[in-house]
Amino acid sequence: MFQILFLGTAGARYVVAKQLRASGGLLFKSNSEYLLFDPGPGTLVYLAKYKIPLEKISNILVSHKHLDHSADLNIIVDAITEGGFKKRGTLFLPKEVIEEGLLLSYLQENLKEIVFLKEKASYVAGPFKFYTTLPLKHTAENYGLIFELPNNERLGIITDTAYFEGLSEEFRDCQFIIVNVVRFEPKEGVLHLSIPDVKKLLQTLRPKLTILNHFGMTMIKANPFKVAQSLSQEYNLQVIAAYDGMKIEL
Ligand SMILES: [Zn+2]
Repeated sequence: MFQILFLGTAGARYVVAKQLRASGGLLFKSNSEYLLFDPGPGTLVYLAKYKIPLEKISNILVSHKHLDHSADLNIIVDAITEGGFKKRGTLFLPKEVIEEGLLLSYLQENLKEIVFLKEKASYVAGPFKFYTTLPLKHTAENYGLIFELPNNERLGIITDTAYFEGLSEEFRDCQFIIVNVVRFEPKEGVLHLSIPDVKKLLQTLRPKLTILNHFGMTMIKANPFKVAQSLSQEYNLQVIAAYDGMKIEL
């Protein structure tokens, strides 16, 4: 069993600042253990709203230092370690996040382990197994992530990045893809994916299921559900748009 709860689906500053979508990241569940991915602003509130037992969050994964992926990290670490009374939790993140001081040093000591992500490396976190891709093209140290599912299929998470040659190759073994698509149309100098980039990924990878996520304002205006629907029709593939509170089982 591998479940994903979309605590939030917001991407980019405006949508996050105005909370047009929630920004709580994703929560993975396998064998009654949780892995919290990218705890953006409001994550703690949504974990409470969905009645997630905090003590079962044994792993946290932060893809990169930007606040829409990390703002609630401190309070989450404080919560799962019961203010330091219980040494708990493994935190996976690029070294840069710690170097930038995004996690207070007294909280770092309360965690069981902090593991720095490196390119093309494998990690085991309780029932979760994942590996990283080459560095992505973003304004922060950031890697693509590939989870090995219990049935030997793979889930690729294409976090914030510009499109580059070789991006799709990194995710070639994935039947499932979650892709952060901040923009509807590309914009020069913005290191985020847009719909034309998603089309290139769909053409090459032809995943069993693609989930669009992490929407900026231009995607919200374009209506992610309609965008996903037309991509599904155009490529004869299953493409869906994530929404706050969406739950899926892979
Ligand atoms: Zn980012």
